Amino acid sequence: MKIAILSKGSANYTTRRLKEVAKARGHEVKIINYAKCYVAIEKDKPVIRYKGGSLDHFDAIIPRIAQSYTKYGTAIVRQFESQGSYTTATSLAINRSRDKLRAYQVLAKAGVAIPKTVFARETANFEDVVSLAGGTPLIIKVARGTHGNGVVLAETPKAAKAVMQAFYVEGVNFLVQEFIKESAGEDIRALVVGSRVVASIKRQSLDDDFRSNTHQGGVGTAIKLTDEETKTAVKAAKAMGLPICGVDMMRSNRGVLVLEVNSSASLKTPEQITKRDLATKTIEYIEINAKRNNKKDKIGA
Ligand code: ADP
Repeated sequence: MKIAILSKGSANYTTRRLKEVAKARGHEVKIINYAKCYVAIEKDKPVIRYKGGSLDHFDAIIPRIAQSYTKYGTAIVRQFESQGSYTTATSLAINRSRDKLRAYQVLAKAGVAIPKTVFARETANFEDVVSLAGGTPLIIKVARGTHGNGVVLAETPKAAKAVMQAFYVEGVNFLVQEFIKESAGEDIRALVVGSRVVASIKRQSLDDDFRSNTHQGGVGTAIKLTDEETKTAVKAAKAMGLPICGVDMMRSNRGVLVLEVNSSASLKTPEQITKRDLATKTIEYIEINAKRNNKKDKIGA
C-alpha cells in the first residue's frame, strides 16, 4: 500500500514509529508536512501540490494534525478524502474532537458519561450556571484549549464569576464543568484501535496541580481498566468517529467520565510504559480497513 503520514515533524516519535513499522511490513510510506501542502480545486480534478509537484494517490493517510493547524490541516485531509484515500481520522471527526463543546454534545448524545457541563455565553444567569455545574469549586475550560492550558479551577463563586467575565470580555468560548475532586491530578488515557483498547495508562501530575497533563510534567503508569472503563473508551471512540484515538477519562464517585477524545494521540508514553508494539497494531488496522475502503470504492465506481 501507499501510505502518507500527515505530520509536521518527521522526527516525532509516533510519526517515526508508524513509518518504521509500515515500511517493515512492505508498504511505501511518505511523511508529508501538511502545512506545506496546497490544493488546486477544480471540477473533477482535485490536485494536492507539495514541494512544487503533484502528489500521487495514496491508499491510506494517517493525519497527525497539530491543534494550532486544525483548520488548514483538516482542509488538506478533506482533499485526500475526496481523492478516495482511506483515512484513520476524517476531517469531520478531527474538527469535532477539537471543539470541546461539540465533542461533549456528541458524546452525551451517544450515551457516554461526561462531567456535568454547562455552556454559557454571558454571566447574566451566573448563579444558575454555577449551580447547574454542581457549585464551586468548579472547572472553567476554554472550548479550544489543549495540554491543560485554558483549564481553570475556580474555588469560589467570586473567582468563577471573575474568570467567566474575563473570558467573556475577550470573546473566548468556554465551558463550566463540575470539578471531579476525587480524581484531581489524575486521569486515564486509553488508546483505542478499532473496537479495542490496546493500552491504558494513568497520568498523574507531579505537583499539586489538578491537571495531570500539563507540560510541566505528569508521570504515567500502566493501569488495568475495568470492563466499564474499557466499554466507555470504545463507545467514546465510536461516537466521535475516531477508530484510532486516545480517550482521556477520569474516575469519579459515579463511575468513569470521558474528558476528551484525541485524534492524534502520541504512542510514545503508552509504548514505553506498556512495552507493547502499538505502532504495529495501528498499521495492521489500516491494512484491513484501507483494503475494505478501496474495495467499496471499486464497487461504487
Ligand atoms: P486539555 O484538552 O486542555 O488537556 P482537559 O479537559 O483534558 O483539557 O483537561 C486537562 C486536565 O485537567 C485533565 O487531564 C485533568 O487532569 C484535569 N481536569 C479536566 N477537567 C476536569 C474536571 N472536570 N475535574 C477535575 N479535573 C479536571
